[in-house]
Amino acid sequence: MNPVRACPAILRIAVAAPLPALFDYLPPETIDASPIPQPGMRVLVPFGRGRRVGMIVALATDSDLPPERLKAVLAILDQEPLLQPLDLEFMLWSARYYRAAPGEALFTALPTRLRRPEPVRSPAPSSRQLTAAEQTTAPAAAAATLQLNPQQAAAVAAVRASQGFAGFLLDGITGSGKTEVYLRLIDDALDLGRQILILVPEIGLTPQLEQRLRARVPAPMAVLHSGLSEREREQRWFQGARGLARVLLGTRSAIFTPLPELGLIIVDEEHDLSLKQQDGFRYSARDLAVRRGQLCQCPVLLGSATPALESLHNAERGRYQRLVLSHRAGEAQSPRVQIADIRGQYLDTGMGPLLLQRVEECISQGEQVLLFLNRRGFSPVLTCHDCGWISECIRCDARLTIHRNRAELRCHHCGLIRPLPARCPYCEGPDLRPLGQGTERVEDSLRQRFPGIPLARIDRDSTSRKGELERLLAGALNGEFRILLGTQMLAKGHHLPGITLVGILDLDHGLYGADFRATERMAQLLVQVAGRAGRAEKPGTVILQTRHPQHPMLRALLQHGYGAFARAALAERRAAGMPPFSYQVLIRADSPREEAAMTFLHQAAGIARELLSTDQKLPNPEFPGLELWGPAAAAMEQRAGRHRAQLLVQAPRRAPLHRLLERLMPRLRALPKARDLRFSLDVDPQET
Ligand code: ADP
Ligand code: ZN
Ligand code: ZN
Repeated sequence: MNPVRACPAILRIAVAAPLPALFDYLPPETIDASPIPQPGMRVLVPFGRGRRVGMIVALATDSDLPPERLKAVLAILDQEPLLQPLDLEFMLWSARYYRAAPGEALFTALPTRLRRPEPVRSPAPSSRQLTAAEQTTAPAAAAATLQLNPQQAAAVAAVRASQGFAGFLLDGITGSGKTEVYLRLIDDALDLGRQILILVPEIGLTPQLEQRLRARVPAPMAVLHSGLSEREREQRWFQGARGLARVLLGTRSAIFTPLPELGLIIVDEEHDLSLKQQDGFRYSARDLAVRRGQLCQCPVLLGSATPALESLHNAERGRYQRLVLSHRAGEAQSPRVQIADIRGQYLDTGMGPLLLQRVEECISQGEQVLLFLNRRGFSPVLTCHDCGWISECIRCDARLTIHRNRAELRCHHCGLIRPLPARCPYCEGPDLRPLGQGTERVEDSLRQRFPGIPLARIDRDSTSRKGELERLLAGALNGEFRILLGTQMLAKGHHLPGITLVGILDLDHGLYGADFRATERMAQLLVQVAGRAGRAEKPGTVILQTRHPQHPMLRALLQHGYGAFARAALAERRAAGMPPFSYQVLIRADSPREEAAMTFLHQAAGIARELLSTDQKLPNPEFPGLELWGPAAAAMEQRAGRHRAQLLVQAPRRAPLHRLLERLMPRLRALPKARDLRFSLDVDPQET
């Protein structure tokens, strides 16, 4: 005889749909045949006129709806929960915090196949992805004998001494041995039988980190990134979820991989913008890492040579413990940065006389040079010398970049491609000229100027073929290439110890960018690029070309380093009441029709103002310090054929801001909207 099966009365379900609410259902009618419903299991439910997959997120005893209106679940799809309570709680918290639809957030975090009503396939425990690290039992020990320097040892000791959740900011200059610190802490956590999550901005750009982990981590490791097939992604997801992978290395979405025995989270290059998802379900993997550490009661280590101002501020007010590595590990010295004032100077190959002379010297001495220009393509604009026509994108407020190798004009914002015209499309004049320099063009001139000197251009175009970046980086490391020319791809985390000179052709747009974070980003990029220079026996030199040598932020950065720059920048932010001294939410709207986004946001602002004041037209005490900015056109008003506008909501504290959204969102959803209008929320936006 079957024992009586206790069955909960109500199942609270996140339906895989972009809807803000959870929905109540009754357990399936054929209860005997199916597993007992538990949170974390997927279900098939009747929804509208169709059926949808959903996930049970809670069991309840009663519902706001009368029982006769509740429908029964059609089937329970999983024999056991896919997500453990902590993982489920983490994902629901993420959805709430970023105001995403819970079902949408949960299901985008699952492998695609599981978004459909398909059964779970059990992963083979000995899948191929796990092998690399499994083989390593002796070589790991060899490298671990390396003696930590006192700062590294202190950092390791601080994390070891922590209990439960603790946030750490590992503020260590490039080459100071942050990775060594990670490796020791990974070993510790493995010894304790815990899983480790390591988040990096982009795995493809830093193959060295993966290689080092593979060589040193004496346990099964799985790697998750966007280049995987669905099948691979699913396998690795399960390896994490079932505890088979002990170390999970991944890009931002890896933050949502279930890890039942999670005991340490590391976020490398925590300042990097790639850790923020910029569309759809917009989240910051760095910030979520901290939240996940709190839920799992484990340490979270954020590492960077150029910490985000938010993180430095969190360290200042005691939310994170700051661990400083101020010297290069081993014998290497930090590079010297020199300013080259290029105002009024003739630029040859994008370089003024000082930089050009230093490049010539280096090359004649057989040394390696890195030239940095953050603009790919041949030239950012094509213009007609007769009538002044310029190559503009028809769908964006942007210019079309010349890609001469492919004889194309391309929009870097919407992907539009046009053949390179032979004559002006406007006046049919033959005299079309490229304006400005991109990496392709500088490459051309360098090859003419330094014939026979092996050169590698490293940018998205030159490395689009699989394996090409690895090939170019290997050639850079073994000294095959004497000149490296690249965009910010080259700035990220590569150790290129042979480089003695770094030339930065142009970073000026960062000094006067429209976004209030422009200088912070410029400083981070500059320090990261500069960090590529300098080998053990010979300190590197960095030459920064600029037309603004007196810019105060630039001077603070160069004379006193990133720390001093960050303090000055934080003081400015504090005075202006900008983040991290306030919190922001951006309401974005866009539409193919010019006025629709603005009209909608004006309505939104009207409702918000109404909520912000009492019936007596006084400021509502529920929302202290709340400010509305806009609506205003986005910095790039038109993109991919859509007109874009935004409304900024800002407050000195988080709670009132989120309280306002709580009240505002249902009303915005209820507004009659133009058919083609899209709107979204960006909580803690990184680009405004
Ligand atoms: P980061 O991650 O901060 O850029 P790494 O951990 O990659 O720095 O270290 C930079 C270089 O210094 C590596 O080649 C590493 O092996 C070496 N290194 C790190 N720690 C030490 C140490 N304590 N003694 C000697 N060399 C070290
Ligand atoms: Zn013309
Ligand atoms: Zn475009």
